[in-house]
Amino acid sequence: MAGSQNKASYNKVFTKLKEHHKWFENSIPLIASENIPSPAVREAVMSDFGNRYAEGWPGERVYAGCIHIDGVEFECMKLAKKLYKARFADVRPISGVVANLAVYSAYSDPGDVMLAPSIPAGGHISHGKREHSGTAGLVHGLEIEFYPFDAEEMTIDVDRTKQKVKDLKKGGRLPKIAMFGGSLFLFPHPVKELSDFLKSYGIHINYDAAHVAGLIAGGRFQDPLREGANTMTMSTHKTLFGPQGGLVLGSKEHEEPIKKATFPGLTSSHHVNNMAAKAVAFAEALEYGRDYASQVIKNAKSLAEALSDAGFKVLGESRGFTKSHQIAVNVLDYADGGRVEADLEKANIIVNRQLIPGDIKAGRDYFHPGGIRLGVSEITRLGMRKGEMQDIASFIKHVIIDKKEPKKILSKVRSLRRNYQKVRYCFDGKLGAYEYVKLR
Ligand SMILES: *Cc1c(COP(=O)(O)O)cnc(C)c1O
Repeated sequence: MAGSQNKASYNKVFTKLKEHHKWFENSIPLIASENIPSPAVREAVMSDFGNRYAEGWPGERVYAGCIHIDGVEFECMKLAKKLYKARFADVRPISGVVANLAVYSAYSDPGDVMLAPSIPAGGHISHGKREHSGTAGLVHGLEIEFYPFDAEEMTIDVDRTKQKVKDLKKGGRLPKIAMFGGSLFLFPHPVKELSDFLKSYGIHINYDAAHVAGLIAGGRFQDPLREGANTMTMSTHKTLFGPQGGLVLGSKEHEEPIKKATFPGLTSSHHVNNMAAKAVAFAEALEYGRDYASQVIKNAKSLAEALSDAGFKVLGESRGFTKSHQIAVNVLDYADGGRVEADLEKANIIVNRQLIPGDIKAGRDYFHPGGIRLGVSEITRLGMRKGEMQDIASFIKHVIIDKKEPKKILSKVRSLRRNYQKVRYCFDGKLGAYEYVKLR
């Protein structure tokens, strides 16, 4: 009977959701772009705000029914500006990609050139070329030129970038936007070193803080808006521990162009529940962000050192491996990154394969790249520290170097996780980190 099939499908969704929660309760989640939000953020996400429209700017809405939404959105903007010491904040972009598109729309036209990091050098697909279906090229028609990259130092090369800009100008292709920030992001980018130079050519500087927003908020990475970036875009859910969403920051002069780009340009509904949850996360970051960011960076360094001691080739060695939440490992001595990702997943250790410098030239692709990327934000939120980083490095060694059966490591992963089931660095942490909430 069709009716019972529908109910069976409906039930299957909830079964899968619960299985997922259980799995994460027993896993070591090391995806660098993910985090676990507080119970307070989850509560805001589930609220009725998620069923409402609030098109426009608070106080100037297109619909009625927004009295309380406006109150929250004013608070959200106030908190975002305080957290990042910015004069202007647009809290409506529904993701980091949409935040970047708002900047592209406000400060460039199709056919213009943008300077950005290539993907193996850490760039994100939203900075990418049309031929790779990158957002900048495909959606806004930008032509992308890559920064020269120093693979030893794992950062943008300042002198060669200056030469490249001069050469592009000679060829009549002066960039309109210079995009800093990235997805494989171990060390701060040279914003301070390049901003005066880029501005002397009238280039708009945007810093994409999607990955490092929580570290910047905690004052433990770089401070792009003070180093010369005009605008800063981000996701609100990577090192920053909010709901999935985006944010654009700038000064007063950016207000009108960005506001118009976000609405009506790029959003109709701005996922009002997530906006409220962003406000909650900003307040938490103002209160706990410094301690959290310090511990994240310490943990990343501890894990990198432990992996290196275990025999892994950890990138960025000459600079102490990392100054962010991330660690990048060249795994080609053992397998390709895709294989390593799959083997670790069988042991409930969740990482992602990663293109690293040199991969494209060597003919490796995204499915079989040379590296993996690890992030420690989520396990730091669960309260883990140096000792646990050493345990995790030894689990990874057992699976990848010693080639032990991944299933044999599972019980060790489970027992490590047993004592880390609550979210720290938040006002109210009563609910378990991965506790499933049933409303039916
Ligand atoms: C993740 C990421 C984004 C995209 O963010 P979404 O919120 O997933 O849209 C943009 N830029 C960089 C550098 C990223 O790493």
